Amino acid sequence: MRVLVAVDGSEASEAELRTVRERAWPPGTTIRVLSVAPDPVIIPEMGAVADVGQTRETLLRDADGTVKQSVAALHGVSATVEPAVRSGDPRWTIVDEAANWGADLIVVGSHGRTRLARLLLGSVAEYVARHAPCSVEIARERQRQSTA
Ligand code: AMP
Repeated sequence: MRVLVAVDGSEASEAELRTVRERAWPPGTTIRVLSVAPDPVIIPEMGAVADVGQTRETLLRDADGTVKQSVAALHGVSATVEPAVRSGDPRWTIVDEAANWGADLIVVGSHGRTRLARLLLGSVAEYVARHAPCSVEIARERQRQSTA
């Protein structure tokens, strides 16, 4: 089984990684941990929006760091884990990666790093769920039950 896990270093990614780590994957499963460095040109010229003013190199370095941390967080998982760093629009790049690699499942977090970026760029999770060539699992931190 091929599982593509898209991470952006947000808290939702932590929930995502926990979900992936705790599951018993079928023998022979490969988990590809993907982080996409957003293309600087697709970000509108608003200083408050994530990543504006950062160079392609900085963004790639961030994505590389996120992938390395995520791979380390999956230590002990019952699968082969491999890193992948790409650049471009995260939405299209995740879907393209899944198609080109032949993923059976994509795992994304329910939300990412900044609300503002999501407002401007749209929801990565929603786009991937709509356009993926395979099943998509959206990982979410368990909501606490209200006792009231
Ligand atoms: P969002 O829709 O931006 O709130 O992000 C939802 C989820 O999409 C995140 O928890 C990640 O799983 C994934 N995601 C968002 N941005 C990226 C990125 N640059 N690289 C990889 N995955 C991403």
